[in-house]
This record gives sequence, structure tokens and C-alpha cells, in this order.
Amino acid sequence: MAQITKTTNREVPLDKVRNIGIIAHIDAGKTTTTERILFYTGKTYKLGDIDEGTTVTDWMPQERERGITIVSAAITTFWRGCRINIIDTPGHVDFTAEVERSLRVLDGAVMIFDAASGVQSQSETVWHQADKYHVPRLIFMNKMDVLGADFKGSLKMIKDRLSISPVVLTYPIGSEQSFKGVIALLENKALYWNEDPLGIKWEEKEVPAEMQKEVAQARHESIEQICAEDETLLEKYLNGEEPTLEQLKAVLRKATISLKLVPLYVGSSLRNKGVQPVLDGVVDFLPSPMDIPPVTGFNPQSGEEEKREAKNEAPLSALAFKIQVDPHVGKLTYLRIYSGTLKAGCPALNSVKRDKERIGRLLLMHADKREEIVEAYAGEIVAAIGLTRTSTGDTICDPGSPIVLESIKFPEPVISLAIEPKTKSDQEKLGNALNRLSEEDPTFKIKVNHETGQTIIAGMGELHLEIIVDRMRREFGIEANTGAPQIAYKETITKIGEGEGKYIHQSGGRGQYGHCWLRVEPKNRGEGYEFKSEIKGGAIPNEFIAPIEKGVKEAMENGVLAGFPIVDMKVVVYDGSFHEVDSSEIAFKIAGSQALQTATRNAGLTLLEPIMKVEVTTPEEFMGTVIGDLSARRAQISGTEIRGPSRIILGFVPLAEISGYSTTLRSLTQGRASYYMEPSHYQEVPKNIIEAIVAKRI
Ligand code: GDP
Repeated sequence: MAQITKTTNREVPLDKVRNIGIIAHIDAGKTTTTERILFYTGKTYKLGDIDEGTTVTDWMPQERERGITIVSAAITTFWRGCRINIIDTPGHVDFTAEVERSLRVLDGAVMIFDAASGVQSQSETVWHQADKYHVPRLIFMNKMDVLGADFKGSLKMIKDRLSISPVVLTYPIGSEQSFKGVIALLENKALYWNEDPLGIKWEEKEVPAEMQKEVAQARHESIEQICAEDETLLEKYLNGEEPTLEQLKAVLRKATISLKLVPLYVGSSLRNKGVQPVLDGVVDFLPSPMDIPPVTGFNPQSGEEEKREAKNEAPLSALAFKIQVDPHVGKLTYLRIYSGTLKAGCPALNSVKRDKERIGRLLLMHADKREEIVEAYAGEIVAAIGLTRTSTGDTICDPGSPIVLESIKFPEPVISLAIEPKTKSDQEKLGNALNRLSEEDPTFKIKVNHETGQTIIAGMGELHLEIIVDRMRREFGIEANTGAPQIAYKETITKIGEGEGKYIHQSGGRGQYGHCWLRVEPKNRGEGYEFKSEIKGGAIPNEFIAPIEKGVKEAMENGVLAGFPIVDMKVVVYDGSFHEVDSSEIAFKIAGSQALQTATRNAGLTLLEPIMKVEVTTPEEFMGTVIGDLSARRAQISGTEIRGPSRIILGFVPLAEISGYSTTLRSLTQGRASYYMEPSHYQEVPKNIIEAIVAKRI
């Protein structure tokens, strides 16, 4: 991996660049497919097999062991004259931040589904995330060779669950063990890979006689779907004139880029069948950086919105979407360049931190080597060395034309645990390692509990934190002990309440005088905090309003009921008094803090807990047991579905009740069920349970 080759002159026409992500439900075959793509595009020399732990994109040791993909490495490769940058996306939603940040910077995506299990809940979530970021997509229905592969059933599920009607471009020849190849529908050709076990070459043949009728029907449907997007083509088609392949491709390209149509391919990555047509699809139907609207941001000086065209001559604008600490070269900052040219050794502005940075070296990351480059252009994705103060989400731009691009929003952690080194002398090393890791991952947070002096780490789920602890051991050589996971509860109020805060000390000399009345009002879940002053007639001089708010915020952060932060509340200061001589900022801050505590106590304080969305897939015989167990964990079952021989149970369950669920589920179902979970929302904790939680905290 450390091998670096140096290139001085390279420029790819922008319309030949594709920045794509490969997105999939865990185990649908993302790693295998990426591996095949890199192999077929000539970037790897040996087919690594995920099951043996030798793949190229999953380069972190834990990923290999766990068989999941965590970090977004960006890899450059080539197909039919196009430069394809593959931005790796994680296969587990414990790493939401990674999914979101990849979606933010990629222009198109290949979404992989498993032909046997169809659309799993996580795929649905990611699909909608991709909608949110307007990412055009192709679908690859993988695993056509596995037992239970069901093309029609999975297609129906895609239509039902995602509310889309994909355009089938390759149609399976056979299924399960007899899956032999695909029919390229528009070309009306059968493609077979069986002669070549590595699948580099394929053979084109006529559509087999026994399939002609169904293929004609499928082909008709796909062509009709494409023609429906273009009036002239449709008219011709309805009049019996078949459009040319070029015409169909052109219309499909436009419709895919404008998110109206989604091309669908089938195949089996493991059996090396059907992958190259997907690569063709990336070139033919996914957008180049020129096909997407110019990026928008705001000018930090004027506050006005500005646009940047994807042109090399335009002022530089780039988004830092990923930081990795590399043992050989130090901090690597992955940048998506939206406009302009990035030059090695040149100064640039971090417009978010309002700080000058110097771009040291620039690297293009290939699967098997790194290429050092001197310039990188609009639309490209590169790794920069030397940006010391830039964090994920920051904008790097031309100092003469500052712009702040819309940053990436990350969710708040829902779980935390105390951590300490096994040997006291490692304390400092532990702090440094945690800081480095949190620099890479914005959903991973570190705090120090001031009362106990303990270091607390917080993240998006148990697995997320487990991996962090694992990385500390492997990458930094620090063995750590961890405490039991703690749920990130929050406090909020249920009704309007008022309270007074008074901090008055007058004992000779200059005293202290701060006095205010606050009203607190509940807001909807997720609406956050708002502060307002209704002071009229100078009951409190203006300069003391900010100190009151400071006190309010501090009290909210520390919580009132059980020490958890208070959220979703409006705070209004509406009355108070002051003293000409004795009033001070500090006195009003203390009064504000006291008033908030009283007001919230009068406003029906309650606790909120994180709720996880859960989906369990189990053989039918264990369905009752699994539902029974979930119900005992305060779950709300929202539905059940039938998927082949399996039953799917959908529901919501409090995070507090689900720790260690994998072990329980395994023993309840003889290891035959699987589950998937992601943070969903916050919800009020039932009264009887609040008491227990509060008692534990005091
Ligand atoms: P990821 O979690 O999405 O990255 O999935 P992987 O690529 O790691 O694949 C998960 C498992 O499915 C591995 O054991 C693969 O060998 C296997 N697999 C992937 N693609 C196929 C396929 O097309 N057919 C079959 N039978 N197995 C596959």
C-alpha cells in the first residue's frame, strides 16, 4: 500500500470522470463486487476473496476479520476511457456518518441487492438517504447463483418497498446453480461467462430459443419505460418503429441522471458473471461532475449564496469529506474538488475555520498503489497531505474567492462508555489515540467526566465503540478496560413552567445582585433549543441578558432530573430586577441557571431514550419466541413479512433493552436468525422506569 509512483502531467476530460459509491446491505456482496470491478478494470492482479480476508478496499484489519467495510477509501480506476473514482461506503448503519459523507461527495451510486433476500431494511434506509442527496443510481441484483435466488420476487420487492420501477437492462439466464449468464435486453443478446472461471471474457450469443418469449416481453417493458421519458421516441415506438440503441441509451442516461429512472442489472459477483455490464452502465448512465448542478455555498464575508461551476479555471472549492491517519505519511485529508485546480505546495483557505492551510503533497489512491500528482482538477477526488487544522466537513478554497460549502450534518451519539488504559502509564497515549480517532470520525466523541475524572467515549452503537477499542489496541498498542455501555438519555419538559432565580449577596463593600424570571415551553422532538428575551422597560439591562442565557445553557447541559442534557425547549426571560452597583454578569449567570432549574422542575421534567429500529429475519418456527422476547424488551412490533421460507419481524425497541441482543437471538433460534438495527428517534421513557434510572444516577 505504501508504494508511491509519481506523475506530473495528467488531465482527464471532465465528462469522462465518474465519482461513484457502491452501496449495499451488509453481506449483499459489496466487497466482492468492488473487488471484481477493480480486477476487471485492471487495477488488481489477483482476485482477492473476501472469505480469505485479502480484499483491497477493506484494508483495515478489523474489517477483514469482521467481514464488514468501515472506512471510505477512495480508489481510482479506469473503464472504457473513463476515470472511475470509487468512494467506499460502509455496509453497516452504525457508521451512518460514513454513509452520509460518502453520499454527499459522490455523483452516482451502484446499489447492490441480494437476489435471495431482496430489499432489506438497511437498503431501504440507504436508498432514502441517497434520495435526500439526489444521487442517481443503478441497481445490481447480486447473488443470482445462491439457493433461493428469486429475480421476479426481488424485483417486485424493489418496486413495492422503494416505490420505483427499475428498468431491467440485464435479465437472468437460469437461477441458483443453473444461473449461466444474462440477456442484455436492449442489445437482445445472451452473454455467457462460463468458459472463463475468472470472468474476464464473455461470449455473446443469440437469446436461447426457450427464453425468447419471456425475453421479448421483458425487453418490450424496458424499452417502453425508456421511451415514456421522451415524447418523440414514444410516438415512434407506439407506431411500431423501434428506436436505435444510441437513442435509447441517450434517453436513459438523461432520465437516470434526473432520478426518473433506475437501470437494473443482475449477476453473481462471486461466480464472475454479469459484472462488466454494470461497469458499462456506470459509464453510460451515471453522471460526470459536469452533469450535476454547480455546487452552492455562501460567501463568508457577505453571507450571500454563491455557485461554483465544475471548471478547472474557476476559483478553487473543495470539501474535506474524510480524514485518515496513515502510519506512513501521517494525516490524509480526502477532498472532493468541486471547482478549480488544487496544486501541491500551494496555500489555500479553510473557510470554515478561517485559517490558512498549505497543501503539501497530493495523492491519487489506487487499489494497489498511490500516485503522487502535482495538480488535481474540478470533479476529482484526491487525498492531500499537510492540512493540519482541517476537519471533516470543512471547505478548502481559493483565499481570493472564499466560499463555505454546505457541510455534512452528523447525528449525535446514542451510547457511551467509560474507558481507561490497563496500565496507568498509558494514560497520555490513550488520550492522544482517542483524539486521533475522533478526528477521523465525527460521530465518535470523547468527554471527561469532571467528577470522576473518567474518560468517556460516545458513538452510534455498541459495535461502533467496540471497533474503536479494537483499533486502539491494534494501531496504537493500547490495551484498555471499558465500563458498561451507558445510554445517552436526554431530559425534556412536558408543559409550560415558570421559575425565579435570585443571586443576591450584600455583605459590605460591593455585593452581587442577579435576579430573573424564566418561562420554559416544550418544543417538538428534534426542534432543539431557543432563547428569547421579553424584557421590556429595562427590568434587566441588556448587557445581562447574554449572561443569563449562558447560565441557562450550562444548566441545560448538566440536566436537572438525572444529569442528562435538556433538549427541545424554548426559554423566555420575561422579568427580573437589578441593582445599580451590585449587578454583575456572574450574578446574572447564576440567577439564570437557578431560574432554569426551578422552571423546568415546574414544567414536568421527563426522560427521553433512544429508540432503535429493528428488523429480525427468522425461520417461521422461532417467530413466536422472537416476538415474545422482543415484547419483553418493551418493543413495539410494527409488522411482519414473509420472505421465502423466512419471516421478518419489524419493530422499534429501546436501546436500553437491546444490549447484547446478538447472543440472545443466537441462543433463542439456534443461530438461525439474524437482525439489523439502527437509531431511529427519541421517545419518552415510561414513568416506572424513569425512577429506576434517576435512582441509579444519584
Ligand atoms: P458485503 O458485506 O456487502 O461487503 O458482502 P461481501 O462481498 O463480503 O459478501 C458477503 C458474502 O457473500 C461473502 O461470503 C461472499 O463470498 C458472498 N457472496 C458475494 N457475492 C456473491 C454471489 O454473487 N454469490 C454467492 N453465492 N455468494 C456471494
